[in-house]
Amino acid sequence: MSASKYTLQCNSHKCRAKLSGFAWVTACSHVFCDHHGSEAFSRAPSSCPVCSKMLSGKLDVLRTELTPSEQYKSMVLVGLQPETVLEISHNALVFWTYQVNQERLLMEYNLSRAGGQVLQMEKFMTQQNQSRELELNALRGEIASLKKVLEEYKLKYNEVLERLNERNRQYQKLQKLLDSLRMHTLGMEEKDPTPPTFPTGLVKQRSPHSSPSFLGPEVDRFFSLGPDNTKTFFQFSTPTRDRTHSFIKKN
Ligand SMILES: [Zn+2]
Ligand SMILES: [Zn+2]
Repeated sequence: MSASKYTLQCNSHKCRAKLSGFAWVTACSHVFCDHHGSEAFSRAPSSCPVCSKMLSGKLDVLRTELTPSEQYKSMVLVGLQPETVLEISHNALVFWTYQVNQERLLMEYNLSRAGGQVLQMEKFMTQQNQSRELELNALRGEIASLKKVLEEYKLKYNEVLERLNERNRQYQKLQKLLDSLRMHTLGMEEKDPTPPTFPTGLVKQRSPHSSPSFLGPEVDRFFSLGPDNTKTFFQFSTPTRDRTHSFIKKN
């Protein structure tokens, strides 16, 4: 930014407006917008709102036009000694340099404050990241242990499945045996068509000795399966009973 492009700003910290038109300048090298200048310097004696310097002299505060007309510029220093002209210019440049320098200091202060905030934010973010990392590690551990439990359950499931298949195979075997027994009983009845002679129509109870001897231990296993299976077996004898009933009715 070249010095000529720089625009003065109201030194009131709550204003900081870029100045144009009329402004108030002080002997302590501060400058204010028309609003804050007239507010601060309307009563006498007055003091500078920024540095609190007493401004009691007649020319300690001046309301000046920042962009004077060409006619004013052509006449304001006319007739003065060259030394006086240079002295006036020197004072104006000192004021300007002070303002630019103050602005630079303010910007540096704001920059360092923002830098401090950035550092604090970075510290906060690092702490957050660390705690998230810890949480993540704990969750990873939990997942690993859950996977282990799942594997154990899978093994148990396979074991149970294997046992179930074994039971199914046994069941199929027994079913085949039952079918062959039915077939055998049917064959025996067809060979021995003599109607039963007992008048009650009750099914003749089988003695253990009546089991066909060729069936062997498989049959013993079948008969030891419990009342349900025995019932199923004897239900098969029902047609005989039915025939008995019809035989009785005919008599
Ligand atoms: Zn202002
Ligand atoms: Zn001041």
